[in-house]
This record gives sequence, C-alpha cells and structure tokens, in this order.
Amino acid sequence: MHIKKLLIANRGEIAQRIIRSAREMGIRTVAIYSEADRKAPYVRLADEAICIGPPPSAQSYLHMDRIIQTALDLHVDAIHPGYGFLSENATFAQKVADAGIIFVGPSPHAIATMGDKLKAKQAVSRYGIPLVPGTEEPITDMLKAKQIALEIGYPILIKASAGGGGKGMRIVENADDFEAQMKRAASEALSAFGDPSVFIEKYITSPKHIEIQVLGDQHGHIVHLFERECSIQRRHQKVVEEAPSGTLTEDIRLKMGEAAVKVAKACDYYGAGTVEFIVDKDLNFYFLEMNTRLQVEHPVTELITGKDLVREQLLIAEGKPLSFTQADLQIRGHAIEIRVYAEDPENNFLPDTGTLITYRPPMGPGIRVDDGFEEGMEIPVFYDPMIAKLIVHDENREKAILRMIRAINEYRITGVKNTLAFCKFVMEHTEFRSAAFTTKFVENHYLPESLEPSFSSVEKKALAAFVGCWMDDQKINGPSHPSTADQKKRSQWKNRITHG
Ligand code: ADP
Repeated sequence: MHIKKLLIANRGEIAQRIIRSAREMGIRTVAIYSEADRKAPYVRLADEAICIGPPPSAQSYLHMDRIIQTALDLHVDAIHPGYGFLSENATFAQKVADAGIIFVGPSPHAIATMGDKLKAKQAVSRYGIPLVPGTEEPITDMLKAKQIALEIGYPILIKASAGGGGKGMRIVENADDFEAQMKRAASEALSAFGDPSVFIEKYITSPKHIEIQVLGDQHGHIVHLFERECSIQRRHQKVVEEAPSGTLTEDIRLKMGEAAVKVAKACDYYGAGTVEFIVDKDLNFYFLEMNTRLQVEHPVTELITGKDLVREQLLIAEGKPLSFTQADLQIRGHAIEIRVYAEDPENNFLPDTGTLITYRPPMGPGIRVDDGFEEGMEIPVFYDPMIAKLIVHDENREKAILRMIRAINEYRITGVKNTLAFCKFVMEHTEFRSAAFTTKFVENHYLPESLEPSFSSVEKKALAAFVGCWMDDQKINGPSHPSTADQKKRSQWKNRITHG
C-alpha cells in the first residue's frame, strides 16, 4: 500500500515536522487545527487544512470521531498522531483501522500493553529484562503493600499504572507516611487518568534516565538506534536531551540495545518506539516503560544516525520492510536538544503565556530548530507550552555543547518567559560538562539566581527606549486595540527591561 494522503492529528512543531517528511516523500498532507491555532505555520504548510473545533483539546485534538470523519471526507489514506493527544490511545488506533485508514504507529494491542505501566512490566518480565524492584500487580491490600515496601526498603515511589507525563508519582520516605500517601495517590490517579490502580517501585536515588530508540517493521525485523540521555528534568519531565550518552560504555550500550529490542518483541512491536530505562551509578539498568510513538526528543537520534524517523514510520506503515539492519547503523558525532518552553525558570517553571514580541531562531552550521510559532503569535493557554526545540550536532560532545551555547546566545525571544537562559546554565555547569549528572541535577544545582540576565545592557537600553516611545505614542494617538492582558504584559515587560 502506498500512502498518497496523510492527515496529521496533532498541532505545532510536530505537525510541521511530519508535514516536511511527508512532502519529501511526495505525500499530500492535511492539517487539522483548533480555533486557537488558526494562524499557526503548520496550518499554512499543509496542502489542506480543516478547523476541527474550539480550543479545548477535548473538543478538537482529542475528538476521535470528528478527526476520523474528517479523514474519511477528505479521502485520506493514513493518520499520523504525532506525540501526546491521541498518539498512545489504543481505542483511537483501532477506530482508525476500523474506518479503513492506516494508523501510523504500532498495533492497538501493543499500545494497550505498553500504555499500562504494570501490564508492560508483566509483559517484559518473561524476557529476562531487569525491572526496578517493586509490585507487579495493582495494590489492593494495604497491609501486604506496606510489608512489600519494607522489604524493598524506603524511599519508595508510588506510581499510577495509567500515569504519564511525569504525573501521578509520589515519593514516600518512611513507613509512617505510607498509608496516607497511597490513598492520595489512588484518588489522584482516578481523577487524572480515570483508573485508580497504583503500584510501588523502589525509588532509585540519583539515577540517570536513558532510553533506547527502536524501529520495527511489520515483518518481524526490529533494530535499535542507540540511546538518548534525558536526565536533565524538572517535575520528572525532560528539558535537555542528548545522544549518545556521555557515560555509557560500549558494552552497556550493546546490552541496553539488546534489552530494548527484546521489550519490543514482547509485544510484537512495529513502528517507532522508545524503551525507557533508569540507570544507577554502577550502570545497572532497569526497564521503566515503553512509549509507543515518536518521542519529542527524536531529532537527536536522527542527527547521530542520519535516519529520518518520520520517514521510517511512514514506510513501515505502508508495510515496507526496513531498508537497513543493525549492522548498518552507526553513531556519528554528538547531538543535543534543548526544549524551549514558555515557562518561568525563576518561578518554579510555571507556564507563561503571551505574545512573542520578538522571535528570531538561531541559524548556521549544525543547527536545527523545530518550532511551531512565528514572531507576533500568541502562545495559547490550552496546550503544552513548548515554543520550540533547538537541536545541535557536532563531531563530539564538547564541540556540541559549545555550539549549543552559541545558538542559545543567538536565539532572540521577548514577550514570553522561557527556558533559554536556564538551558545555557545547564550547558555551562561543570557537572553537565562532566556527563556524570543525574535526574537530581535541577534539585541539586539550580537556583533562580544562577541565571544570567537575559539582555545585555545595550539591548536593555534600546528596548526601554522602544517601550517608552510606544507608551508615549499610545498617550497621543490612543490605544491601538491592546487587550488588558497585552497592556499588563507590556507594563511587566517594561519593568523587566528596566529592572531585569
Ligand atoms: P511518565 O510516564 O509519567 O513520564 P516514567 O515512569 O517515565 O513516568 O518516569 C518519569 C521520570 O520519573 C523518570 O525519568 C525518572 O526521572 C523518574 N522516575 C521514575 N521511576 C523512578 C524510580 N523508580 N526511581 C527514581 N526515579 C524514577
């Protein structure tokens, strides 16, 4: 089967990313968008674009039946779900298949197995994959669970079986807190994921998060495309990723790659997927979960392997066999990605919204920017606050870090607080440079005061003069329809320039 027309059931940078590969393959594209995304660049980039509903996700990007009906109306052959939204929803994958459309992703069975953390652990335990010590069933008996927690040893982590996105996790330091935390975790899991099942795991203090990219075709071939190191996290969520890891030995890399392929085999996997591991200081690794979709951080793997993962996903969905074997794959150089979020690193990384008054991404050798916005656009409050991903590639880790610092210095974003200065702090930190950092990096080393002011004194003077003129102009000519939010932002903005 040859895909001629593809609908992208997603938005922003990932929709744009998918459209680009599809176009290179001669596939026509359909973008869907909510009313909040009307002006987004991906909407213009696609061959056709359809408004799918109002801004809230439940009425637009998560509205399965409307999306499938749109695909049928426009005679689409395949739907790519991107990441987030419906990408790991087995019901959606099944409904797409039932409508006679190709779902660009694994089978509904693989999604259902791996989408549930406990089912996933059960499925892979038969294949001798090391698991974090913990319970293998949802907890129903509090006394028994308390006994197991004692055997495992505190601290322990309570996790929601249906959890994701760093949500639904609670660390318990000692037995006295166990019962209260369990009850809280179960009720949180029920309200957030509609499933109260929770289980416990040993809390590994100061681990690394290292994951392996896999690709499998529909003919039983599965390969891995090496690792990504994703230990720089805030709120259990990644913000800096790189490939390869600066600390893995060749031997462990091989073992983790083999383990990831076995995990994929455990659910007859096809498509692109990621097997996540937690790695302790002695480089013992334990299976965490498998993500059955394209990952946000996939570009670092593309840069070190030279493979276009979206293209591979589309070829696999068409039923083509992989055109390369494990032996054909090699690591070339080093790649780092930072996520540029509209968040305030000086205030606990709280999401920020507003208008991108200035937006100028960096350019030049070895730089890739996957973004979804343009200067003058609003960052909507309804979705994930990621503005862009900045990815660099160079021949080794040290050079890639220097290139990333150069690129961050070139990036110009004003009007919205963002994570650029924080990521520069990471790049310059001795522990990051040593590659020996863990998921505790932010907690152990980062203080808001550590950040460099984001503007040079010359820029501040120029911007202050600009805002001053603008305000004078408003007094003379009256407002040029600024909303109250805009006015508030501008006066905050003025304060930031004069006091920042
Ligand atoms: P989610 O699906 O919500 O992203 P994960 O199971 O992938 O949850 O875990 C997210 C992050 O939480 C990991 O990258 C790691 O930083 C931390 N984490 C998860 N399990 C453990 C554990 N057993 N011990 C220590 N940290 C953990």
